[in-house]
Amino acid sequence: MRAILLGPPGAGKGTQAETIVKEFSIPHISTGDIFRKNIKEGTPLGKKAMEYMDQGKLVPDDLTVELVKDRLLKDDCKNGFLLDGFPRTIYQADALEDFLKEIGQSLDYVINISVRKELLIERAVGRRLCKNCGQAYHMSFNKPLKEGVCDKCGGELIQRKDDTKETVENRINVYREQTEPLIDYYTKKGIIVNIDGEKPIAQVSQDIIAALRK
Ligand code: ADP
Ligand code: ADP
Ligand code: ZN
Repeated sequence: MRAILLGPPGAGKGTQAETIVKEFSIPHISTGDIFRKNIKEGTPLGKKAMEYMDQGKLVPDDLTVELVKDRLLKDDCKNGFLLDGFPRTIYQADALEDFLKEIGQSLDYVINISVRKELLIERAVGRRLCKNCGQAYHMSFNKPLKEGVCDKCGGELIQRKDDTKETVENRINVYREQTEPLIDYYTKKGIIVNIDGEKPIAQVSQDIIAALRK
């Protein structure tokens, strides 16, 4: 299974990725997670990416594409992968297509998760992540058992720096301008699966898995 998760910030891509990769035994490749890891470790890539991420802007295409190509060449991607948050521009989508062609692969599905803007803001602003293991929670919709503490590892829950109302609004605008055209792009290729992301987490997972099993 070679698939992409497409959707605006807060749509539930990361949350759904967790279930999908378990179901299909494929690696979860989130460009956002890779950038955040680099920022945490203070690498040159992290320093560069941070300038853009903090403002809710996209990291430049060439940098992002190189990163994903390197990742897709790793052994664990041989039998498939789930890309989360990549591609985000037509340029990235074209580059991905060329690269997959080069290595004799192609995409099976693009899972397009839709959620209304007001709900996206509420989701992103209430999002909390475990500082330790990265597990995502929500202050109202997906609470940890104990406030501020990760159920899985006991780590401290923190808020992403770019999950403020203002930056989320910027990110939604960037999504509309630069990423939304990909819905048409992949619809024309006949591989899009449209998912209503406003349902409860478990229901959305069921809908996605049912669509991918068809
Ligand atoms: P969300 O889950 O809220 O959609 P991500 O974690 O996927 O956010 O991305 C966070 C930030 O990382 C983006 O706002 C952007 O700055 C950067 N980023 C992630 N993926 C890409 C990409 N494919 N191209 C450019 N920038 C990206
Ligand atoms: P994305 O990766 O698309 O930015 P996340 O998966 O991180 O989105 O989800 C954003 C926030 O919304 C998280 O706090 C998550 O717990 C919550 N969330 C995700 N899916 C749902 C859902 N179907 N219903 C309610 N809350 C959700
Ligand atoms: Zn944790």
